[in-house]
Amino acid sequence: MGGGWKDQFADAPDVLKSAPEDKTVVWAGGVAIGGDEFVTMAGPCSVETERQLMETAERVAAAGARVLRGGAFKPRSSPYAFQGLGLAGLKLLAAARAATGLAIVTEVMAAADAPMVAEYADILQIGSRSMENYALLEAAAKTGRPILLKRGMVATIADLLRSAQCVVSYGNPNVILCERGIRTFETATRNTFDVCGMIVLKEVSRLPVIADPSHAAGRRSLVPALARSAVAAGADGLLVEVHPDPDRAWSDGEQSLTFSEFGTMMADLAPWCELRASCNYALETVA
Ligand code: PEP
Ligand code: MN
Repeated sequence: MGGGWKDQFADAPDVLKSAPEDKTVVWAGGVAIGGDEFVTMAGPCSVETERQLMETAERVAAAGARVLRGGAFKPRSSPYAFQGLGLAGLKLLAAARAATGLAIVTEVMAAADAPMVAEYADILQIGSRSMENYALLEAAAKTGRPILLKRGMVATIADLLRSAQCVVSYGNPNVILCERGIRTFETATRNTFDVCGMIVLKEVSRLPVIADPSHAAGRRSLVPALARSAVAAGADGLLVEVHPDPDRAWSDGEQSLTFSEFGTMMADLAPWCELRASCNYALETVA
C-alpha cells in the first residue's frame, strides 16, 4: 500500500483489487475483455452510411479486431456538427454484427435512450463528457449490458474509479475502464495520453483497462506508437477509430486510420501482445 491510494480510492471499494490476482473478466458478445486475449475494438467515430459501416466492419474484422465501434449518438462540441444517425445507426450496427460476428460498442448519451441502445449493442459506451452523469450511469448500468467507461477529460483517477463504483453499485459489475487522454497545457496533441494513470488503474483496479489512442492523439500518425505504448503498459485492449476515407469522415477524420494503416498497426502489435502476458502483473494492492 503506498502513495495514499487507500484514502484516495476509498469511495471505490468494489472496483479495487483485494489481492494482486483479482480481476474482472467482462464478457460481451462472446468476447472476453480483461482475460488473456488483447482485445481490439475498432471502427468509425460515427456511423455514417450502410456501405461505410459494413466495409469498415469487414476490414477491421479481417485485421483482427473483435469488437466494432461506431457512434450513433454523437457528443459534438458544436451544436451545428453532425449529431449521429440515432436509431438508424443502431440498426446498421446490429446488421454489421450479423454480417461479421463482431460484438458492438456504441455510446449512449441520454438516460432515456439506454434501454434502446442496449437492445442493439453488446457494450454501452459512456463518453468522456458523460463520465459524471450519474443518472446516465444508473440507467446504463441497469440495462445489464457491460459498460465501457471513458475517463472524463478533466477527471482524476479517483473520479474515474468513483464513477465505476457507481455502475457496480447499481448491480452491474461489468465495467471496462478507458484512458482516452486528459486535458493538460499541451496543445500539440488533442489530449495528453496518461500512460502513468493507465498503469495505476491496472495496478489498483480489478477492472479491465483499455486505451483509446485516437482521441488521445487527435492525429493519425501518432496512433500506432501510442497503441504500442498501451500494450507495453499492460492495457487489456484498444479502442481505435478507422474509416474507409478518413479525409471525408463526418467526424474525427484527422485521427482515424485508413484500412491499410490499421492492418499494419495490428500486424506490428502482434509481437508486443505476445510479450504483454509476461509483463501484466501488479506489484501491490490498496484494498
Ligand atoms: C468517441 O469515442 O468517438 C468519443 C466521442 O470519445 P470521447 O468521449 O472519449 O471524446
Ligand atoms: Mn471520435
